[in-house]
Amino acid sequence: MVPMARSPASELEALAVAGLHRQLRQWERCGTGLQARLGDRMVVNFSSNDYLGLASHPSITAAFSEAVNRWGAGSGASRLVCGTMAPHTALEEDLAQFKGTESALSFSSGYTAAVGTLSALLQPGDIVILDKLCHASLIDGARLSGAEIRVFPHNDLDQLEKRLAWASGKVSAAGRILVVTESVFSMDGDRAPLADIIRAKHKYGALLLVDEAHAFGILGPGGRGLAAELGLADHVDLQLGTLSKAAGLSGGFVAASRDLCDLLVNRSRAFIYSTAPAPALAEAARTSLSLLAGAEGDQLRSRLWHHLDSLCNALGRTPESAIFPVILGSNERALAAAAGLLEKGFLVPAIRYPTVPRGSARLRVTLSAAHEASDVSALAAALASRAD
Ligand SMILES: *Cc1c(COP(=O)(O)O)cnc(C)c1O
Repeated sequence: MVPMARSPASELEALAVAGLHRQLRQWERCGTGLQARLGDRMVVNFSSNDYLGLASHPSITAAFSEAVNRWGAGSGASRLVCGTMAPHTALEEDLAQFKGTESALSFSSGYTAAVGTLSALLQPGDIVILDKLCHASLIDGARLSGAEIRVFPHNDLDQLEKRLAWASGKVSAAGRILVVTESVFSMDGDRAPLADIIRAKHKYGALLLVDEAHAFGILGPGGRGLAAELGLADHVDLQLGTLSKAAGLSGGFVAASRDLCDLLVNRSRAFIYSTAPAPALAEAARTSLSLLAGAEGDQLRSRLWHHLDSLCNALGRTPESAIFPVILGSNERALAAAAGLLEKGFLVPAIRYPTVPRGSARLRVTLSAAHEASDVSALAAALASRAD
């Protein structure tokens, strides 16, 4: 008899029993803000990464549609074949200038930027040392590379140094040691101690990759990120970013030296074997970038920080980023809390394993400059009076 493989239905059932089953929800964006229609009701969306409201900014949507007319809807080929058009080159020049690096390379998403960068830079014999809370894309890239993987407890410098000391004794002369962290952590909203991490990476001759996905557009002068805020960008070998969050579009990028970017053009399979992003997206991203770097970017950031201060003041916390987690522990508790908030008209997601470690299920609130102050104070009151 042919053995029966497990059925998809049995896997889904196991997920449901564990409180880990997920479903797609369709919602409609209403107006330019974060009012959302979910089924037949209106809710205020506190789950979007559109931190500055740029996804519906008129200059950006106009740049997008004008560029579609000028450059067509799709790019037609991968970047190395004939998919590189003027907007791609110009965006990469703008990104490098914005970040103050020699060069930059864009990808179709932040996920592919992370996977494509780590898997291309590292090979068997190399060692990659990641913060325990690094995003799935960084872990996947590390795994795909074949390098030896070590993880250090979240933001624990002593443990990072121990792994660096071990790695520097083990790696061959030509081998690479790469330290990987985020600047703002996606599920906790806290920041990495970058100055100390940089000191450690210099001491052991390692490279450093910092994923600034949630800091790009939000922190630092002109929204250049946490490394720029600390004046340390020159010490980060690879700065990763996404155009999908504060920039309001989609796409990812890495800003680094010319040699590192050239190496990625030659080695990164996620870059090489994928059709170039639509040129209109690149054009819209240039508009977004100039807006972020200018006076309007400053105004939007100050409005966002005002909202963050008011939410955090109401709940006795200090804001570090636009992400505000409320850690509840069990999946059931997080799901019940999210359902209770939805009942009151607030869309706040429950985040569960494997996105966060088991036993640390949580509500993850994200604020945006596009929220109204009254939405934020109403949410603060609802969070303060939760019954769970
Ligand atoms: C969102 C995110 C990504 C992925 O970016 P996308 O553009 O959404 O694919 C990568 N790294 C981190 C830390 C993120 O939060």
